[in-house]
Amino acid sequence: MNTELLSASDTTRAARYLKQGKLVVIPTETVYGLGVRCDDPAGIDAVFIAKGRPQDNPLIVHVSSLEMAHRYAIVDSVAERLFSCFSPGPLTLVLPARSTVALNARAGLSTVAIRIPGHPVARTVIEQTDLGVAAPSANRSGRPSPTTARAAYDEMQGRVSAVIDGGSCDLGIESTVAVLREGGPHILRPGRITRDDLHRCLDMSVREAADVDASEQVLSPGTRHRHYSPDGNLCVVNGAGELSAHAPFDETDALICISKAVASEFTAHGGRESHVQRATDEQNYEHNLYEWFYWSERNGFRRLLVELPAGNARTVAIRDRILRAAGRV
Ligand code: AMP
Ligand code: MG
Repeated sequence: MNTELLSASDTTRAARYLKQGKLVVIPTETVYGLGVRCDDPAGIDAVFIAKGRPQDNPLIVHVSSLEMAHRYAIVDSVAERLFSCFSPGPLTLVLPARSTVALNARAGLSTVAIRIPGHPVARTVIEQTDLGVAAPSANRSGRPSPTTARAAYDEMQGRVSAVIDGGSCDLGIESTVAVLREGGPHILRPGRITRDDLHRCLDMSVREAADVDASEQVLSPGTRHRHYSPDGNLCVVNGAGELSAHAPFDETDALICISKAVASEFTAHGGRESHVQRATDEQNYEHNLYEWFYWSERNGFRRLLVELPAGNARTVAIRDRILRAAGRV
């Protein structure tokens, strides 16, 4: 299959392809998504095949308005309140599904995950398509999510009809996924919108992903599978002390970090300055993490050392992605 690279202004063509049941990679503010109309079982099957994704891992349906969310899910007043606080944006809610969403898009579940993305290209494409767009991250299963058109194109070339270039994704990691329970929301996957954010919006107690018990996690099957991993040997380090245990370093090693002490430790023991990617703060770390994974692959480094930032409310999501990428969760 020939994969067209479309510019951000070519949304009309992308919407036409989606209506025809074709697969189109679209930029969102979190990561690039592999889009298909959510009411088409054959198209959804094609998405699972293009990604090599396990059939038990449901997809997120992207809509452009609350009105459109109502077409695909039962949106109660608590969900409406959450959408009004955080949408358009990186919040995905798991809600009771309507039959308008293909059963295979939700992996046979009675619920569907809904998000209203904020990226202008994603919004325009969905509006023009006038259909919910099921869109998992546009990577082959188990690999890092693409956050640039180049990475998405390299992942999906020959597997999709088109990739729209919407630039580098603002946030760089996937949305917060939450399910609504009697007592309040439970976070199934951490993201930029934190437990405190949800709590401030609702004034209800909110359970963090780490505190949600295993039986509930089974409700979000995607969290069971290995994710986000680049090729090569990924090694998580917790501070300069842990890094030094891996010394000495040479030209086959690369480092992704946030603290100056870790960067200095690496170069002091033979690591190349040009093989260090250092984030300026936690948000910048989220923004760059996957792109740096792809950078490491393109350069063929033998070992990628990744600093785990210190735990706090703002680092829950990035710590989750780093630990999963290393197969430590
Ligand atoms: P991705 O498509 O890679 O962004 O992953 C989507 C995430 O949303 C996965 O962790 C899924 O398990 C989760 N998800 C999607 N639909 C549902 C659902 N109906 N119930 C629970 N989790 C869901
Ligand atoms: Mg994914």
